[in-house]
Amino acid sequence: MLLLPDYRVRQRDLLLEISRAMTAQLDLSEVLRLVLKASVLMLAGHVVGLIALRDSSTEHYRIRATINIDSSKLPELEKHVAELVTGASKGLEFQHLEENLREMAAVIDQGLKQLFPMPLAIAGEPVGLLLVFRDYVGNTTPNDIQILQSFADQAAIAVHNALLYENMDRERKRLDAFVKYSADGVMILDADLRILRFNRALERMTGWRAEDAQARDQDAVIVWSRLEQGDLRQALSEGWPFRPAQGSTPETLYVEGDILRLDGMTLSIGITYGPLFTSDGRIANIIANVRDITNFRRAQEMQNVFISSVSHELKTPVALIKGYAGTLRREDAHWDHNVIRDSLAVIEEEADRLTELIENLLAASKLQAERMRLNMSDVMLDELANRAVERFSTQTQRHHFKLSFPPQFPVIHGDEERLRRVFDNLLSNAIKYSPDGGTIEVGGQADDQSVTVFIRDEGVGISESEQEHIFDRFYRVDGTLSRKTQGTGLGLYLAKGIIEAHNGTLNVKSKPGEGSTFFFTLPQ
Ligand code: ADP
Repeated sequence: MLLLPDYRVRQRDLLLEISRAMTAQLDLSEVLRLVLKASVLMLAGHVVGLIALRDSSTEHYRIRATINIDSSKLPELEKHVAELVTGASKGLEFQHLEENLREMAAVIDQGLKQLFPMPLAIAGEPVGLLLVFRDYVGNTTPNDIQILQSFADQAAIAVHNALLYENMDRERKRLDAFVKYSADGVMILDADLRILRFNRALERMTGWRAEDAQARDQDAVIVWSRLEQGDLRQALSEGWPFRPAQGSTPETLYVEGDILRLDGMTLSIGITYGPLFTSDGRIANIIANVRDITNFRRAQEMQNVFISSVSHELKTPVALIKGYAGTLRREDAHWDHNVIRDSLAVIEEEADRLTELIENLLAASKLQAERMRLNMSDVMLDELANRAVERFSTQTQRHHFKLSFPPQFPVIHGDEERLRRVFDNLLSNAIKYSPDGGTIEVGGQADDQSVTVFIRDEGVGISESEQEHIFDRFYRVDGTLSRKTQGTGLGLYLAKGIIEAHNGTLNVKSKPGEGSTFFFTLPQ
């Protein structure tokens, strides 16, 4: 007999209890422990056992639980399990498999005599393998075998459920981590637009803490100060989202505008809403993906400002050239020599300005596309500064120029043409942005490793918050002065690009109302 008569009743009750606990349990390791515990109870004597589970993606079997087996023996036993499973799937004879099982028993303990291999399967699909060994050979009736088999079937269901739950739990954790760490804001709403989930990125964007935002109505947290495109409530009232045909994805809804953060500031965002349906076609949830579009907006604005200022800069010299050329061509007038010379001088100057502007534009687009290739030679920066100051001093009466370079200023290795452009851009800014005149000082200092050149003005200055942007492409400080002054926002971007191509740095120190000092350092 397999079951000992004396204990039969008590054992059966215990077994029932364990089976019940086993099927109610969703924790996989606990289910496996109970299955093994029940196996030991069913067989008297010294009993050992193991459960190997099949990985449905690799089809490999791995030992996931043992009872009374030394863990150092697991690698070898796992090899035997693999042989056993491939042997069984190849349809090898029972004798062959039995031999394998005996070898396994010997690995565990020489004293093991009887083996009970029980495949765990659901509707013919293998889930795993339960192997139990005991230290004596008892009589087993067909009834005993049936009891064992029905236990194994029940165990298979419990293991299968626990595996499903484990997979679901892993999936849920993955999704949780994805929502949590996403750089975009993610919000999950219920069908009444109440917030169920609210991730970290959204906390940063809105100023709301997740625990305060959750359970609130979406409209209480996402407060639009300006709605530019789309409207969730309106779309819902008009029938969005239409349940899609089988297999196709439902249409998303895009909403864009400015929201009012909790701290009163505004932020430009774009939200893409996607619906999730229940099996009977009702909305279960709405998933919202929220993107901070401030930088995109700023880039767009910069582009617009750039286009309008470039066209303005191009139009002015063209109009002057056309005006003077038209006047000179008038056949009814006889211009004296001086008028002709002065008019041609204006035409030439304006043509130079156009060339300069076009060169700046080309240089800027090149700078963005590729690393600047420099034309290196010996450059005397003090000389270069001197010549630039001479050129600019003829253009202004209001400004006083001062050169302060120490004698024997070091000669550096650099691209002279490009460094001339740096001086030109910095000096023309110093003039443009000190409309009341004042002193413009250009000077330098040197140590063993580097030289530093500064251009100092007494102009309008630049606030700290603007200082980090003025070197950006197309960036112009928004103020009455820059609106009146011509410019494209390329000068400093180019100057910085040129200095950095020389492995140097270009920086600014400035206070609004007190003037600015731009200084660049180049290696010697
Ligand atoms: P642009 O002069 O064509 O506008 P820049 O790239 O040369 O473009 O300069 C960017 C912005 O930085 C300017 O619009 C101006 O507001 C500010 N800026 C540059 N130089 C000075 C300066 N010396 N003093 C005050 N503001 C300056």
